[in-house]
Amino acid sequence: SKNKVGFEDRVTLTRHRLAQHKMYQLQTPYDPDMRDWLMAASFGDGLPRGTEGQPGSKLPDVFQAAVLPMRDQMVYPRAVSPLSVGRERSLRALDVGTKSGMVVALAQKDPTLEEPRPSDLYPIGVVCNVGRMLRMPDGSTTVLVQGRARVRVLEWVRSTAFLQARVQLIDEPISDSPATEALMRAVLALFERVVMLNEALPEDAYVYAMNVNDPGWLSDMIAQTLPLQMSERQAILETIDANARLQKLSTILARELDVLELEDKIQANAQNEVDRSQREYYLRERMRAIQTELGELDGELRDVNNLRSRLTAAQVPDVARARAEQELNRLAQLPSMAPDTGVLRTYIEWILDLPWHEKTQDNLDITHAQKILDERHFGLPKAKERVLEYIAVRKLTQQQGHKMRSPIICFVGPPGTGKTSLARSIADALGRKFVRMSVGGVRDEAEIRGHRRTYVGALPGRILQMMKRADTLNPLFVLDEIDKLGEDFRGDPSAALLEVLDPEQNFEFEDHYLDIPYDLSKVLWVTTANSLDPLPPALRDRMEVIEFPGYVEEEKLEIAQRFLVPKQIADNGLLPKQLTLSDEVIKRLVREYTYEAGVRELDREIAKVCRKVARSVAENKRHVQRINPDMLHKYLGPPQFDYGLMEEVDQIGVANGLAWNEAGGDVMPIEVSLVEGKGSLTLTGSLGDVMQESAQAALSFARVRAKEYGISAKVFEKSDIHVHVAEGAIPKDGPSAGIAIATALISALTKVPVRRDVAMTGEITLRGRVLPIGGLKEKILAAHRAGLRTLIMPRKNVKDLDEVPRRIQRDMTLVQVGSMEEVLKIAMTRALAPRPSVPARRARPARVAPVRPPTKPTVKSTRRI
Ligand code: ADP
Repeated sequence: SKNKVGFEDRVTLTRHRLAQHKMYQLQTPYDPDMRDWLMAASFGDGLPRGTEGQPGSKLPDVFQAAVLPMRDQMVYPRAVSPLSVGRERSLRALDVGTKSGMVVALAQKDPTLEEPRPSDLYPIGVVCNVGRMLRMPDGSTTVLVQGRARVRVLEWVRSTAFLQARVQLIDEPISDSPATEALMRAVLALFERVVMLNEALPEDAYVYAMNVNDPGWLSDMIAQTLPLQMSERQAILETIDANARLQKLSTILARELDVLELEDKIQANAQNEVDRSQREYYLRERMRAIQTELGELDGELRDVNNLRSRLTAAQVPDVARARAEQELNRLAQLPSMAPDTGVLRTYIEWILDLPWHEKTQDNLDITHAQKILDERHFGLPKAKERVLEYIAVRKLTQQQGHKMRSPIICFVGPPGTGKTSLARSIADALGRKFVRMSVGGVRDEAEIRGHRRTYVGALPGRILQMMKRADTLNPLFVLDEIDKLGEDFRGDPSAALLEVLDPEQNFEFEDHYLDIPYDLSKVLWVTTANSLDPLPPALRDRMEVIEFPGYVEEEKLEIAQRFLVPKQIADNGLLPKQLTLSDEVIKRLVREYTYEAGVRELDREIAKVCRKVARSVAENKRHVQRINPDMLHKYLGPPQFDYGLMEEVDQIGVANGLAWNEAGGDVMPIEVSLVEGKGSLTLTGSLGDVMQESAQAALSFARVRAKEYGISAKVFEKSDIHVHVAEGAIPKDGPSAGIAIATALISALTKVPVRRDVAMTGEITLRGRVLPIGGLKEKILAAHRAGLRTLIMPRKNVKDLDEVPRRIQRDMTLVQVGSMEEVLKIAMTRALAPRPSVPARRARPARVAPVRPPTKPTVKSTRRI
């Protein structure tokens, strides 16, 4: 604030003070602000005797006077200063001085000396007038003195009661050179800054200094005002030349200013800090006041207390309790608005909310379980059997008091085959809580294990989130789509998943956020996958696989009528009597509106029909209660899929191959055509390397057997061969189309049509042997779905037929083959035979055909999309 007072203000202020001080007229030296008083006294009117003109003008040149030793003060000529006197000898000297009106002040070289001797005093001092003596309330004496002139000790006068000396006045020459003027200005400028920065100096001091025009006086006045060391005061005193004195003073002032400016800066910084924290404190207090007014603070305290009492009541393992308590204590100490409070509270709540001991009692009644499973799920004998076995084993081990290691069950099969819903029913049968989490697309380990709490916004991983939802230690936990688990730079989630599932480790699962071991060993794990192939072996090894192969039409019909339709009717707010779907309708839906191994699409189509009906019911329109097949067009639009044989008549150059993927199997027509050319082979339809190679193998086989099948050798030189596999945009790969390509090719070459009701799968060798393939079951189901009732399959795959439902096997003709001959015998509409031989008379002498290098077919494959 001081710095902000303008100069004008300072002058007025000073005048005002002067006016006040004048009233004292030295009568009451006991001014609380002694410095102001001093200034007023020194430079105002009505001062003690003999102060006009040059210092010491009315004094004799040499005189004798009592000596007053000065410990820590100095009185310069003209200055008035109150001196506090305590020492006996000083008091006696003053007594004499009061009588003679004069005393000589000499500084002690060492201020600590109680009884300084002459040699302990500087030889140059100031002769002072002595004013009145005042007894102070504390028993000391204060005397007002005014400096008059510099003196030098000539000799010491022997005296026991006090020190006494003969002194000589020191002449101070007058100087008023331009240098002096400049020096004075410089000193004044420095002094102004010092006064501004030094809180202890009254602003008036500068105004006084401004009005002093004698250089020696100016230095003395400033020296008197500044808080200086005794040695410095003495040095100024001993500097007689006014210019030299100003010089010395300006050095001192500059140094003083440096210190002050530094202090000022430090203080300003400190002030900022203080201001900030004070502001914060103030705001916080206000907020607290407001909160109290609103009754919220109370709530907050209750919150901590609430957490504490919940913790006391909770059944939590010791480690978790200790951790929660520790965090709770931290929370209680934090100011309510500290950003950490939320983090701490969330953490404590997690510990409180997670199930640590709570368990459901398993219902191990096998008949009960069987009833539930049969009531809710059609078919699925293997899966049901396994579940009932599990319950049985559990029951026995429990009776014998053993612990049973929970198996990890893995349901594998195409979507919509009832994996998840069966798992839910198992949970219901056992009376366990059911939770489900999809790990498809999880790439980050932290999704499973959580982030450390140092991470902003950290939370536990999804496993623990699900456990919290399960609210018991032993739910049935479904991990969906484990075959879709991703992996990237953020760590391998499959490793984390392994820890979750592994009975050796999962009793103390480490979540990064929780940071306390958590027991997952009581959980009954069920995983689902469309295919086992993408699983890391370590994971696959730990699981017990149960396959869900997919359903055939009859099964879908059953499922629809028994489960899907009633459920959709209820879900859409209809009454059972308001809608029936005939078997014919369901079949149409299966054949023409869906194309799948499971029943998910079917379920959706049924839902669509139900919605349409629900709407007419809601609008009070007349509605049909019985849907017949022809109405589907109106409800669902035109059929989405062709059902039945793909072709109207048997075609030349087209064979039905079979493909499979994790969503089930599919029929894959393969077309071959010959165009005029030079014998190159073109492949289209996004075929992978393996498939291209099998096309080449098929071609080579056809060339080798050309004669046998009545194919002219020239045809290979004169035509280009184009192999195309339908649905060109979908990448395809694998060797199992080999026999289908060969069949289509030979058909194209011989112009003999292929049976359109035959599907085939098998790898081909150059010599025409047929090798086994994968995914037989899915392929058979696909062929069945497409209405192809004859299927040619490799003999070596016969063992896989175990997995194919009997019903399908009965429905279809499954032909097992070991060679291409057998394939062609069944697939071709008529037998192939060599061309009738040329009549003998036209025969030319036999000659050996020159061996030509075979033209290498150029492979042009469209790129995968
Ligand atoms: P997934 O988990 O294999 O993809 P879901 O369990 O989600 O399949 O099943 C899809 C729908 O099909 C569910 O409504 C389910 O009830 C029904 N469903 C599938 N299979 C059967 C079945 N065997 N019996 C009864 N309903 C089934």
